Amino acid sequence: MTTQLLGTSFIGYSRSSGTEICGHGIQPGTCTVLEPAYMAATPDEVEKALSLAAAAFPAYSQLPGKTRAVFLRAIADGIEGVVEDIVERGQLETALPEPRLRGETGRTVCQLRMFAKQIEEGSWVDARIDRAQPDRKPLPKADHRAMLCPLGPVAVFCASNFPLAYSVAGGDTASALAAGCPVVVVAHSSHPGVAEIVANAVIAAAQANGMPEGVFSVLYGGGRKVGQAVVKHPVIQAVGFTGSRAGGTALMATANARPQPIPVYAEMSSVNPVVILPSALVRGEEALAEAFFGSLTLGVGQFCTNPGLVFLPVNTGEVFLAKLKSLIEAGSPSMMLNAGICKAFADATSSFATAAGVATLARSTTEAGSGQGAPMAFIVSVADFLKSEVLQGEMFGPATLIVRGSLEEIEAAIPHLEGQLTASIHSTVEELAAHPGLVPALQNRSGRLIFNGFPTGVEVCDSIVHGGPFPATSDGRSTSVGTMAIFRFTRPVTWQSFPDALLPAELQDANPLGIKRMES
Ligand code: NAP
Repeated sequence: MTTQLLGTSFIGYSRSSGTEICGHGIQPGTCTVLEPAYMAATPDEVEKALSLAAAAFPAYSQLPGKTRAVFLRAIADGIEGVVEDIVERGQLETALPEPRLRGETGRTVCQLRMFAKQIEEGSWVDARIDRAQPDRKPLPKADHRAMLCPLGPVAVFCASNFPLAYSVAGGDTASALAAGCPVVVVAHSSHPGVAEIVANAVIAAAQANGMPEGVFSVLYGGGRKVGQAVVKHPVIQAVGFTGSRAGGTALMATANARPQPIPVYAEMSSVNPVVILPSALVRGEEALAEAFFGSLTLGVGQFCTNPGLVFLPVNTGEVFLAKLKSLIEAGSPSMMLNAGICKAFADATSSFATAAGVATLARSTTEAGSGQGAPMAFIVSVADFLKSEVLQGEMFGPATLIVRGSLEEIEAAIPHLEGQLTASIHSTVEELAAHPGLVPALQNRSGRLIFNGFPTGVEVCDSIVHGGPFPATSDGRSTSVGTMAIFRFTRPVTWQSFPDALLPAELQDANPLGIKRMES
């Protein structure tokens, strides 16, 4: 490995010393302790990182989009340069296979380059110009010009299930840096070494491109201690988080209890309902079961878009269920990301298995080894599903709940679902014409609607929404994936009656950046 791991936080351009070990990387399954030990950032070091971020904000936020884009591209290049280190350490820390780690690294650098392109072009600031009308009757109108501006330093919590694409230099960090916000990252204990490798690349890119110190820091020490301190700190103006409902809601409570409350963009819990109508079964029940099983077990089910809930009308789909049963029984247990996630999966599946009215449709016939999760499916009636709070919860792993009832019962159940990242519907245009309320009901509960497909595999693009009503996210008006993610870290500002020379370039009369604007 070319990167030398030191086990300490990045406080701007310095490395901390720390005084207390907060953990090691741990190999899932074998529980082998990996070197080095990671030192928790001390309160003074946390303070230093935050004051550096505050000091960096004025200069960094004023940099032209093209300059920030060079920085983002340099981070992407730097990460590509250490991909072998990422793969080597990532396999040890996360048990994710090499192709997944390479693929996720590719996605991470693509995201950075996507935001670089967005801010190079510049129209994302949504510039609006209402020119003065001094002769307007009965009152003259003053010149008003508005655009989106960066919020200030942002705290980003790394996600255990995306050690690259939603961690140190993942989508939250990339969108915040693109918007013009310094970032203070709280590392996840599940992959500290990968975090250090990526952080080195970000810091090298910042230094090589003359970014102000404090534009980026990474803190070790855990969310409950260091993370809470960061979110409470007056310097921080927004939070990006992916993880559990308990963690996300705890951070929302902390952010709301501040003298100045701040937005928390937490992506938490989603079971991604799949509704299968009879017309979809006509096309081939076995093929549908195979595609569903593929989505259910992808990445050992450790995706926020895992299809954890299926609505299947009674008296249909018997071949689908039989095929799914045989696939699950033959399915192999696989290593999960860490011992905590494995235990949470075991606890959730045993709560489902013992909930009132639930039968086990299938479980893998191979017993799961240490640290492993095995595919399983449960089955319940719509009536029992609606009575149970447990059954609306997430089993984070390769398990799903099949809910059966009449089509009318299924339609009536949809509005009672919690907020979701996605909702999938398998049907035909003709059949849906007879159920005109179904798609609008799913739309009200989710951020992405999928027709005749499954929810895993999130395209990173301009029109993707990876968000949804609570508890899928803490703020269903936002997305954490795609170019719209940048808006989370901005606020609109109006310049009234300002001389041209004092306006940002985006709002000047001559439109020197050549961006798209709304003008009247
Ligand atoms: P987590 O427990 O929510 O932890 C994520 C991060 O938040 C960690 O850095 C953690 O720090 C921090 N944190 C947790 N509780 C906190 C609190 N009260 N105050 C401040 N920070 C806090 O998530 P996880 O460790 O990644 O996985 C645990 C479970 O979350 C999984 O089993 C799964 O059920 C769910 N999960 C869901 C998704 C999804 O996309 N839906 C993704 C990942 C995980 P510490 O290390 O100090 O605890």
